[in-house]
Amino acid sequence: MTNQQIIIVEDEPEIAELIELHVKREGYSTQIIGNGNDALVKIKETPPDLILLDLMLPGMSGLEVCRALRWEEATRELPVIMVTARGEEADIVAGLEIGADDYVTKPFSPRVLIARIRNILRRRSKPGHDHSVDTSQILFGGRLSIDTDRHEVRIDGKSCDLTVTEFRILQYLCDRPGFVRTRHQIIQSVHGVTAVLSPRTIDVHITSLRRKMGDLGKCIDTIRGVGYRLDEWSPDEEE
Ligand code: CA
Repeated sequence: MTNQQIIIVEDEPEIAELIELHVKREGYSTQIIGNGNDALVKIKETPPDLILLDLMLPGMSGLEVCRALRWEEATRELPVIMVTARGEEADIVAGLEIGADDYVTKPFSPRVLIARIRNILRRRSKPGHDHSVDTSQILFGGRLSIDTDRHEVRIDGKSCDLTVTEFRILQYLCDRPGFVRTRHQIIQSVHGVTAVLSPRTIDVHITSLRRKMGDLGKCIDTIRGVGYRLDEWSPDEEE
């Protein structure tokens, strides 16, 4: 059981109650707020541990709420999961670029929703989740290692010959496994390494990166219309 507080910003009572049911069952305490303006006031007053934010709200939209939260020092780091309808890829991309942490699309499976919530809260509670101090990362049960200082990637112990751009992209995706990065965010992450990249160019680099990574290449998921994500697969999670 947990005492963590989740605010559900959702104007459709049936959906809000359904979300609440599943979230409460996991031991989180919840509060439902039906519009963006009230949500913003409440969140600033008593910051929760996480916010489930519907994008299509009367009055202030979910995107505007998210932007306002990211604008202010006190709420900048609050985890936000957007709740969107299918076909709102442009909004999802916009939300991720504003700084939302993740998203689920309606209708969602309760299992997926809870997994996303846990994933974010687990990462937040880990000491030193500021990756800027890390100089090396080990993923996928040791199969993949990235040494930032030496600019070296090893797969199954063997050095993997990546271009500087591919290295940066992989490093960026590995920085937050399980989270989607938009093409634009990926472009920003390699900024300064190479000439201006287009979204299409990112696709080409990813294709090459996947090929060089062999069977681990499949761990880079394409999220259609949104971007790319490093799959959270690990051997001990394999069922
Ligand atoms: Ca709505």
